[in-house]
Amino acid sequence: MFVLVGGTGDLALRMLWPSLAMLDQDGFLADDVRLVSVAREAVGSDEFVERVKAAVTKRAGSDLEDGTIDKFAARISHLSLDVGDVEWGPKLKAELGETDNLDIVFFLSVSPSLFKPICEHLLKAGLNAKPNRVIIEKPLGRDLASSKVINDSVAVAFDEARVFRIDHYLGKETVQNLIALRFANTVFEPLWNAQSIDHVQITVAETVGVGERLGYYDEYGALRDMLQNHLLQLLCLLAMEPPSGINADALRDEKVKVLKSLKPINEHNVLTHTARGQYGAGFAEGKPVAGYEAEKGSPSGTETYVALKAEIANWRWAGTPFYLRTGKHLPSRATEIVVQFKAVPHSIFGGQVLANRLVIRLQPEEDISLTVMNKAPGLSAAGGMDLQPLALSLSLTNAFDSNGTKAPRRRIAYERLILDALNGNNAAFVRRDEVEAAWAWVDGIEEGWAKVYPRPQPYPAGSYGPVSAYTLLDRDGRSWND
Ligand code: NAD
Repeated sequence: MFVLVGGTGDLALRMLWPSLAMLDQDGFLADDVRLVSVAREAVGSDEFVERVKAAVTKRAGSDLEDGTIDKFAARISHLSLDVGDVEWGPKLKAELGETDNLDIVFFLSVSPSLFKPICEHLLKAGLNAKPNRVIIEKPLGRDLASSKVINDSVAVAFDEARVFRIDHYLGKETVQNLIALRFANTVFEPLWNAQSIDHVQITVAETVGVGERLGYYDEYGALRDMLQNHLLQLLCLLAMEPPSGINADALRDEKVKVLKSLKPINEHNVLTHTARGQYGAGFAEGKPVAGYEAEKGSPSGTETYVALKAEIANWRWAGTPFYLRTGKHLPSRATEIVVQFKAVPHSIFGGQVLANRLVIRLQPEEDISLTVMNKAPGLSAAGGMDLQPLALSLSLTNAFDSNGTKAPRRRIAYERLILDALNGNNAAFVRRDEVEAAWAWVDGIEEGWAKVYPRPQPYPAGSYGPVSAYTLLDRDGRSWND
């Protein structure tokens, strides 16, 4: 059974119900799986089911096959119940019916401030019994201390093995593929270290501004909202040692080691190792847009852009920085990893030989390309050899087409994660010590900023970010792959 607490909310309607419907269509939900929504809003079950149908139809579009929606709708019921109701647990239990032999997954798609009362209700009603488990979503705190409070509130009812913390990036196909790329091929791993790799860049660029999330965002900013979780997870998958297996703890043990090896960034080096920006008025998403402070209607020290130089103090990566950046109202939407190899030690060609570069693109398209140097075809007047860089390219979608296999539908990241949670597999979920190690590192940056870098640097909406982000790499004689 799947219980969606906050089933009427934005995340539920845009992502979670459509993901469940697609899993159902593809045969991943057993016939007896019931889907129960519980939320504060007073809405009848029938009316709610119609709302879900509309949301699924909108999201799935032409991927929806005949018959899916009715079969799916028959699984759903809705219960209107405020978490403040002392009878929340017993009322929910009554709605679920006989729960003794059920395997229930609770998805708490509500504000983290409700995790504590909800988990207490579940505990009191005995709905937390094994093997029942719980899925929670960011924001898992805004610093280490508040993250511990959230984790503790969930731990009263569920032991760590049954807490599934979502970072939806880990549900993305190409992010999963990073593990295959690194550990199912022999060609990369021998070169995957500071001896061969000059540096790594991880970029998550968004064209949108903060929009309706301003109230939330102003409390968080780009470092806490995006970098602490999504970008650091990508860094971990790129930098970790080969795990002993693909199981949850083997993978997460290696990720934690990376986080714990990050060199601190604090008041002493925050000015040379980070760049903070905030968008001003400009032209983005094809139209003139207001600046962040104008949208807010008051001054703000919240950054909408962050770039930083992360250094991993271990044998594999000493001397090879990982540059991370993310921001809003940038010129294009792109999530991209660039692994910049070192140049050949000596050029026999007289001129410069460009170093190899592996580009892994997650958005908007999923593809991988490796730039290699080639001889330019034809004769050279000087009698030597002209070189040109060319890319060995792998488009993940086209690769399936040329195989004669139907290109798989591009899944919502939540589909994989919900399915994994239903199967009790938490390999793609974030363990408590990971979240806390990430916060401990990010807290140092926040504290450093508060002391010596309190104001973000403005950048025009629609530009590539603040000048300081470019200085960050210039200082090391490098440049971003724009
Ligand atoms: P929302 O405000 O749209 O929905 C909240 C849900 O919680 C609603 O179903 C509401 O009825 C229910 N709820 C609120 N107070 C309640 C109470 N006292 N008792 C019972 N039910 C109550 O929020 P959302 O955008 O769906 O976000 C849910 C959570 O997921 C938040 O923590 C948010 O930060 C996080 N999140 C949202 C998104 C997104 O895209 N919307 C993305 C990532 C994380």
